[in-house]
Amino acid sequence: MGSETDRRGFLKRAGALAGVAGVGSIFKYSTQWFLVSPDKPPTLSDKPDAAWKGATVAGYNQLGRTGWKMSDISFGAGGLRDADVVRLAIDRGINYIDTSPDYSDSESERAVGEAITGKRDKLFIASKFCSPDGHLDKDTPVAKIIEAVEGSLGRLKTDYLDLCHIHAVNSLDRLMAPTFHEAFDRLKEQGKVRFLGVSSHTPELETVMNHAVDSDRFDVIMVAYNFKNWPDLDNIIDKAKSKNVGFVAMKTLKGAYHTTLRGFDPSERGSFPQAAFKWVNGNPGVAGLVVTITQPAQIDEYLYASGKAADADDLALLEKYEQLASSEYCRPGCGECLDSCPHDVAVNDVLRYTMYYDTYGQQREAIRLYDRMIDEQGHGAEVCVGCSAPCEGACPQSIPIRNKLVRADRLLRLRS
Ligand code: SF4
Ligand code: SF4
Repeated sequence: MGSETDRRGFLKRAGALAGVAGVGSIFKYSTQWFLVSPDKPPTLSDKPDAAWKGATVAGYNQLGRTGWKMSDISFGAGGLRDADVVRLAIDRGINYIDTSPDYSDSESERAVGEAITGKRDKLFIASKFCSPDGHLDKDTPVAKIIEAVEGSLGRLKTDYLDLCHIHAVNSLDRLMAPTFHEAFDRLKEQGKVRFLGVSSHTPELETVMNHAVDSDRFDVIMVAYNFKNWPDLDNIIDKAKSKNVGFVAMKTLKGAYHTTLRGFDPSERGSFPQAAFKWVNGNPGVAGLVVTITQPAQIDEYLYASGKAADADDLALLEKYEQLASSEYCRPGCGECLDSCPHDVAVNDVLRYTMYYDTYGQQREAIRLYDRMIDEQGHGAEVCVGCSAPCEGACPQSIPIRNKLVRADRLLRLRS
């Protein structure tokens, strides 16, 4: 787990290096990353059970109209740099891999590309309409969108993607942008992309996902889904199933605070991800879930839950997590505090980046996303210092937003 001490140490080193190299105090993405320390690995159980060793996929479910029988616990390649981890996951039965051009500065797609050579037809590969620098804007010219997907194909060493998501959709305008849809249609005609998907963390999640299913344009939706999620999600899952739209769950660990929660003992920490996965896959409308995997021990730990149903102990553990972590976790699809902020701080996004930093082992990605947000908005969460925090009164989870955002700004800020 990254600590603020580590972070300050890194910034000090980076500052010294910048001075030596003559780099200004405001770094830009493409030049700054050599200064960033490697991502810390995600937290794992500190008490692995011997029974987990060598676990394999035990459940496969049909992914809607794609017809693919996907592994119920599948590979999320955010933060990935190591092809051997992907090879091991494939050997253990994972047959669905979710990557993106902007994961790990494109190293994720490269690692997946190395690992799938010779096995392509046994795998379902999903990527995103993104460039290595991030999500493509809805006004991106069609030719540029096609070029970005061709870049993915090159890094993945494949002729086609099974699925391409319009990623991080935050409005119906972006969901239905003619640019993305024309690019998809052309890529499909050329045999370069088979199916269209959408993923999103937006406060408009319900609106976006309902529209995506109703539009009949999307073959798959990928949605944050976890224990005690937002109320209308089960209806959306049911509707997707009735229309044969594949449903892939993400963010299933609800912030992944289990290794840091006071009140969770080592055995509960180890059991929590498995309980969470069993609960998610217990919904017959869910084809499978993707979870970030960057090291072999996660494959043992996570796949031990494949094909299993949650029991009473699992549900009790999930309830306990809910009680202990409820004031930590910012709900995808909420956004109730946003209108109360006089500075238009994207509270939900900043809290999500902090989560990437603290619990997902994606420190570089978190810093990059925050830096990009500052570029787009002209400020970060430094404006929270001294604010009377009207946002907190609007939060149904009683999250101490101001303190968390002030910390986030210290943790993620790359420029002085
Ligand atoms: S503390 Fe103030 S500035 Fe920060 S998000 Fe809340 S309302 Fe906005
Ligand atoms: S901080 Fe609270 S109100 Fe704001 S988006 Fe998150 S859960 Fe909702």
